[in-house]
Amino acid sequence: MEKTNLQLNITWLYPKEMSTYGDRGNILTLKKRAEWRGIKVNIDEIGLKESVRSDGNDLYFFGGGQDQAQDIIAKDLSEHKKKFLVEESDKEKVFLGICGGYQLFGHYYKDNRGNEIPGIGILDVFTVAGKERMMGNIVVESEILKDKLVGFENHSGKTYLGKKANKLGTVLVGSGNNGEDRTEGAMENNVYGCYLHGPLLPKNPLFADFLLKAALKKRYGDLELDFINDTLEHTSHEKAIERAYKTR
Ligand code: GLN
Repeated sequence: MEKTNLQLNITWLYPKEMSTYGDRGNILTLKKRAEWRGIKVNIDEIGLKESVRSDGNDLYFFGGGQDQAQDIIAKDLSEHKKKFLVEESDKEKVFLGICGGYQLFGHYYKDNRGNEIPGIGILDVFTVAGKERMMGNIVVESEILKDKLVGFENHSGKTYLGKKANKLGTVLVGSGNNGEDRTEGAMENNVYGCYLHGPLLPKNPLFADFLLKAALKKRYGDLELDFINDTLEHTSHEKAIERAYKTR
């Protein structure tokens, strides 16, 4: 396919309320790695009380946030966005959720006061607040990428996978979904969620390109992304893994 005039539309959910620990870096990474290939990127920031614009979105991003932020946005998510986002997930659009955003892609997040914060159920997972915070560097073996994922986790929520969800990977260093079953993250159709802050994508270039290809596929079919010199990103990936093994 002639790779001219390619376009990628990204919708960023609750950028002000849910972008803890620099998760906005994932948006920057997707944008730059697409633009370096000559792909035009449009980013639509959707906050409280705003409905998602429905003109051909390709990828949705939902960052992390503390329990209080999740509580604030959950009602809005259910009332203003859930129906449309579920329809988009049924069309196999790409979603990436990190930590609090990941939790709200699931059925619910029960916080440490027992409040059940409703999610939108596009991932067959549920989360309950644990007594300990799971915090520190994390390394995960990812079957889909045949590579490792590295990042930083900071959550008290313990996420458990239902039958329809697959793990994103297996924990090599750190706690992962719940510190019990060595699973980390979840994926179902084209919905991906995980606990890796850092932000995730700058240090995991293979996953960034995997998501870009999946998001472009709906509009343009299978296409190979042009080569870019991302030696620096791959080196930082390896160094971050080395450091994670030393520090946990
Ligand atoms: N409030 C959730 C928890 O602590 C998510 C926190 C986050 O997004 N880092 O598990």
